[in-house]
Amino acid sequence: MAERYDVVVAGGGVVGLSIAFALARAGVSVAVLDRREAGREASWAGAGLLPAQSDPDRRPSHPTLALRAWSARLYPEWSAILREETGIDNGYRRTGGVDVAATEAEEHALRTTAGRWRVEGIAYERLAPGDFGRVEPALNPGLRLAYFLPDRAQVRNPWHLRALATAVANRGGVIASHRGVEGFATVGDRVTGVLTTEGPIEADHVVVAAGAWSGGLLERIGVRAPTPPVKGQIVLLNGGRPLLRRIVEYGKHYLVPRDDGRVLIGATEEDAGFDVLPTADAFRGLLEVAGALCPVLRDAEIEATWAGLRPGSLDTRPYIGPAPGFRNLVVATGHKRAGLQLSPATAELVADLILGRPPRIDLSYFRIGRDPAPAGDDVFRS
Ligand SMILES: Cc1cc2nc3c(=O)[nH]c(=O)nc-3n(C[C@H](O)[C@H](O)[C@H](O)COP(=O)(O)OP(=O)(O)OC[C@H]3O[C@@H](n4cnc5c(N)ncnc54)[C@H](O)[C@@H]3O)c2cc1C
Repeated sequence: MAERYDVVVAGGGVVGLSIAFALARAGVSVAVLDRREAGREASWAGAGLLPAQSDPDRRPSHPTLALRAWSARLYPEWSAILREETGIDNGYRRTGGVDVAATEAEEHALRTTAGRWRVEGIAYERLAPGDFGRVEPALNPGLRLAYFLPDRAQVRNPWHLRALATAVANRGGVIASHRGVEGFATVGDRVTGVLTTEGPIEADHVVVAAGAWSGGLLERIGVRAPTPPVKGQIVLLNGGRPLLRRIVEYGKHYLVPRDDGRVLIGATEEDAGFDVLPTADAFRGLLEVAGALCPVLRDAEIEATWAGLRPGSLDTRPYIGPAPGFRNLVVATGHKRAGLQLSPATAELVADLILGRPPRIDLSYFRIGRDPAPAGDDVFRS
C-alpha cells in the first residue's frame, strides 16, 4: 500500500516543525521530510532572539505586527506545553533587553522605534545617561541612548527544535531526516502527494516550508515564490562566567547572553548565494561591534563561529498561504531574519488553512504571487 498522511511538510526547520506541532495537536496525521538532518539549517544557526510581548488589548494595525504579537504571546504558552509533553526545556527566557544607539542618526531611528513600541503597548523605559549600569552593568557608559525592554525574550534554537520534533513524534507524527522532496504528484489543481528520494508519498495536503530552498522546489510545479538566501554569520564567545545579563540590540547587530555564560554576537546580512562558510571580515566586524557595546567582552574566548541562510522573499514579508493554481498546496517561508520569532503564529495560520478554519490574520498581505511590497514597508528594525 502507498505511504500516505493527511499532511506532508517539506522542510524540517522551525517553520515546518511548528506547523507539524500545530497540526499534530489537532489530531492530524503529519510527516515532516527533510533532505538533511531536520533542524540543522537556518533554524539551528539563528540566535533565538524573540520580541517583547505587546499589550493584548491593542489590535495591531499591521498584519506583520499582528503575526509578531501573536507569536510573542504563543511562545511562553508553547514552551510550557512542550516542556510538559516532552520534558525538554526549550530555553525560553524573558531575559529582558536593552536597545542602544551610538550616533545621532541611530538615536533618531531608535526614538522612532520607541514610538512604535508605545503604540503597540510594549513595555519600555528610557535609561538616563549614567544609569545604564542599573540594567546592564556591561554596557558601554559612553553610548548615546539606551532603552530597557523588560519583556524581550530568547529561546535556545536547538533545544526548541528538539522539543518540537519530540512532541510531534509523541503524537504519532513522523520526522524523516535525509528524505528530500524532489517533486510533486498532481491531478488538475490538486497535489496528490510528493516524490521523494525514497519513493512517493500520498497526502491530502502538502506544505512547502523548505526555507531558502523553497523557491527552487516550488518552481518545479510552476509556482513563483523566490526565496533568495540571506547569509548570516554569528560568533560565540565564552567568558567562563556570566558577562552579560540582558540581550543587547544595536541596529542589525545584537548580543545574546546564555544562562551558561556564553554570549552570541550576531549577525551579518550578506548576499552570498548558498555559501555558508564563515569569513574573516564578518568575524572581525562582529567582534568590533561587541567590544564597542560591551568592552568586557574583549577578554572573552572565542568558542565558535558559524553561518546560516535565512529564507528571503520578494519583499520584506513572508509567504503564508495557498500556492496559486493549487487547492491543497500551502507555502510557509520567506521569514528572513524573523523566522524563529514568527514561527508559532505562522504554524497556527497554516493549521487554520488546512483544517478549514477562517485564518485568524488576513493572509492577503502574505499571499504568494503578490506584487512586491513598496520599500519602507518593513516594520522590523532588524
Ligand atoms: C545568523 C542568523 C541569526 C538569526 N537570528 C534570528 C533570531 O534571533 N530570531 C529570529 O526570529 N530569526 C533569526 N534568524 C532567522 C531564522 O533562523 C530563519 O528565519 C528561520 O530559521 C527560517 O526557518 P525555516 O524553517 O523557514 O528554514 P530552515 O531552518 O532553513 O529550514 C528549512 C529546511 O528545509 C530543508 N529542505 C530544503 N530543501 C528541501 C527539500 N527539497 N525537501 C525536504 N527538505 C528540504 C532544509 O534541509 C532545512 O532543514 C537568524 C538566521 C541566521 C542565519
